[in-house]
Amino acid sequence: MQDRFGREVKSIRVSITERCNLSCFYCHREGEWHRHHNEMTPDEIERILRIASELGIKKVKFTGGEPMVREDVVEIVRRAAPLMPRDISMTTNGTLLKKYAAELKDAGLMRVNVSLDTLDPAKYRRITGLALLDDVIDGIYEAMEVFGVVKLNYVLLRGLNDDELDSMLRFSADTGAILQIIELEAPVEKEHTEFFRKYHLSPKYIEEHLESVAERVIYNELHRRKRFIFNFGGKRAEVEIVRPMHNSEFCMNCTRIRLTSDGKLKPCLLRNDNLVDLLTPMRAGASDDTLKELFKEAVLRREPYWKNTKK
Ligand code: SAM
Repeated sequence: MQDRFGREVKSIRVSITERCNLSCFYCHREGEWHRHHNEMTPDEIERILRIASELGIKKVKFTGGEPMVREDVVEIVRRAAPLMPRDISMTTNGTLLKKYAAELKDAGLMRVNVSLDTLDPAKYRRITGLALLDDVIDGIYEAMEVFGVVKLNYVLLRGLNDDELDSMLRFSADTGAILQIIELEAPVEKEHTEFFRKYHLSPKYIEEHLESVAERVIYNELHRRKRFIFNFGGKRAEVEIVRPMHNSEFCMNCTRIRLTSDGKLKPCLLRNDNLVDLLTPMRAGASDDTLKELFKEAVLRREPYWKNTKK
């Protein structure tokens, strides 16, 4: 499936719940800004993924809320695994990862992204609301053992965690996890709020710094991203930077569609005015063909959010 801009849709990001056991103060909540608890069942998620797979989508990332607060998270992954052979991953806050890593791997999960914005327990509590940093760190070590590949999502917050680059790099080298430095993101209407102006920091300068101090810089053609390689006494650290804001190239490389926890296809993280409801027709008895047409409609609604690159 291609959208009107020639972008092929290759992956789906499925929010399986809006519920979360943390309350990170900057969280975009995957663009689900309304509170509802009309969650899809494992049957419904499986059916939507089967249809996605028949339409050529072979990669899924589960997200939330916190996906691991769903007690049936392992079942959901087990059902998805045969339908999504190219990649099946999950983004998690890591607080329950130690408990679930082995079971999820057994169910077919290939890898995880773990949110880790700080290594300082007091800051962790300030950002997330709970003192669970040690659980997350244990979860990361466990996930490295189990999956062999983990990415750390480190959202840059000006004046709060932007002084932790060195310790995050060392942690990446110690654990073997890849460090992803992520720019704080917001839709245009929130860009000029006091909150955003206070905490947003462009990773551009960090990118320039990394470029000058990295042992090696590798350019990934597929994702059009640079990877920076460091060596800490024989241990390798790998860093990537995700810069979405005002980045038309980022949008032009977007090959994913989203599914909200209440079963709506969401063409763009930053928009809520072009969703396509799958769950209501599904519950009313819609055929697979009807659902496929709805999928195609959502793909046609995709358009790059950032059209002109300012930076
Ligand atoms: N609870 C899971 C977790 O913590 O990874 C999954 C949901 S969370 C919304 C997914 C990712 O989005 C996390 O890595 C989080 O740091 C990131 N995120 C949330 N709000 C963001 C924002 N405003 N800008 C950039 N990234 C954000």
